[in-house]
Amino acid sequence: MCSVHQESQMTEQPGGPIPPFSTTYIERSPLEKQAKEAIEQPGCLLRIKSPRKMGKTSLILQVKTHAIGLGYSTVHLDFRRIESRVLSDFNTFLRWFCKTLSYQLKLEDELEDYWDEDIGGKISCTAYLYNCILEKLETPLLLVLSEIDHLFEHPQIYQDFLPLLRSWYEEAKQEESIQKLRLILTYSTEIYVPLKINQSPFNVGSVLQLTRFNLEQTEALVCCYGFLSTLSKTIADQLYEWVNGHPYLTQLALYHLNKQIEVNSETPEVKLAHIIEESATLSGIYSDHLRRCLIHLKQNQELATAFQYVVEIDEAITLDPILAYQLESLGLVTLIGNQVICSCQLYRQYFRTYKLDTIDQHPLIHHIKQLEKQNITLKSLSETDELTGLANRRWFNSTIEQEWERLGNQNNSLSLLLVDIDYFKVYNDLYGHPAGDVCLQKIAQALTECINRSTDLVSRYGGEEFAILLPMSNTQRGVQVAQRIQHQIKALQITVENPRVICFPENVVTVSIGVASIIPSSDFNWRDLVEAADRSLYQSKRKGRNRITVSQAFSEFNE
Ligand code: GH3
Ligand code: MG
Ligand code: MG
Repeated sequence: MCSVHQESQMTEQPGGPIPPFSTTYIERSPLEKQAKEAIEQPGCLLRIKSPRKMGKTSLILQVKTHAIGLGYSTVHLDFRRIESRVLSDFNTFLRWFCKTLSYQLKLEDELEDYWDEDIGGKISCTAYLYNCILEKLETPLLLVLSEIDHLFEHPQIYQDFLPLLRSWYEEAKQEESIQKLRLILTYSTEIYVPLKINQSPFNVGSVLQLTRFNLEQTEALVCCYGFLSTLSKTIADQLYEWVNGHPYLTQLALYHLNKQIEVNSETPEVKLAHIIEESATLSGIYSDHLRRCLIHLKQNQELATAFQYVVEIDEAITLDPILAYQLESLGLVTLIGNQVICSCQLYRQYFRTYKLDTIDQHPLIHHIKQLEKQNITLKSLSETDELTGLANRRWFNSTIEQEWERLGNQNNSLSLLLVDIDYFKVYNDLYGHPAGDVCLQKIAQALTECINRSTDLVSRYGGEEFAILLPMSNTQRGVQVAQRIQHQIKALQITVENPRVICFPENVVTVSIGVASIIPSSDFNWRDLVEAADRSLYQSKRKGRNRITVSQAFSEFNE
């Protein structure tokens, strides 16, 4: 169901949290339910994590509303807003923490009575929390500590503060008085990258990882912008394919679409296509977001190289687990089992054009190159003719295309021979198909013995037709090889002895050959060469078979 178009929210630049009662809040079931249930558990410690701009604060607002509905007291401390002098030492920080709790809960400040430098900050703070906060409250306290990753720039704080939070959580398992505390920590997983870690720094309590919108949720968000339902579906499809349900990126595109529709007569689909097209550049709507990703990657060469690899390949690939974890923390990849895949088309397009890394000698690149080699081996299996073991037509086509390009650049010549067995149908009729197969195999073998350069390629071009590609060879070499082939095949002595059959005058299987040579240039393409060789082969057949015809098609270009 589409919700009502909320004019004011739709026209505001997205980025801030969605107010708790807004109809534009899109539920990501079961996350909301899980979070709400968690805070109903005595002494809970819930961690909510995701990369930036995935909707942590909006979810927190939902949970806070739920807590207020349950009659809980709530305090929300955002560590981004903390003054730096408070972070200078741990004792100052803990005193600030206690005072702020009292202040926000409108409780009496009794800090001086409870603070004892001799017993230390941690014990003083814990005693204060028990006696001056929780004891004084009738109902549970939902304490949200958000953006806690900002503490990581201050090791003197987090190295003691996180264990303190953990000790409260552990104590709550036995100590009833602290069970009133319901703690939620939120943090951006981007912190994992500079910390060079492969595990959350707070491996305690339960954790919720925010997911991207699915297609349905994307559509629900599009509906909020007041598009008709069929149009919503088209827009949602377009956007989902591009940013794969990233909440902020989806919303930002919708905001710009909405804004432009007011001033422009193009249809929304066309408009969105333009927005999308431009968005993978640094002048597009995602420039800030993309730049941020880039900065992260540039700070870690190994990570950049790994991600370059990920965007180059369309399928899921296996990466070093730490790199995979870090890329996922940045939201750049999605994990599928032990493999990763680029998380959306936007990143793929942007980072493909933006070369992150040109260091070829990097160990990872070396590894990739080895994989590529293996792939080539595998590929060649799918490009081999089963009966003869020769290259098949697909392989031939891709090789001639490459050689055309290469030799064209070098101004060097390329020769092609098309070889066709004479009256092979008759041979098959006389001796049967299996014998015909053996004949093909023998001829294939003989052909490979007639070439002597590693760049020469013998392929099975069709049923009883073979193509021999001779790079860096002029007509003269083409003819030499053709003569050698004719000779070798006769020497195979594949005999056909039947008084009723007159088409094998020498009583052995023979071949007809067409030869064509050219210095590749932009005046022609490689198919012209194949066609010329084919015409010459046809001439050989027409003139009586068992002969070689050389094409004159390009003679004036080859001087
Ligand atoms: P031409 O001298 O004009 O080339 O006559 P041809 O009989 O060789 O040519 P045609 O194209 O009339 O017949 C080709 C024959 O090749 C017919 C087909 O049965 C046979 N053939 C094609 N592929 C295979 C194969 O894989 N195995 C066998 N045994 N025969 C094959
Ligand atoms: Mg034939
Ligand atoms: Mg044929």
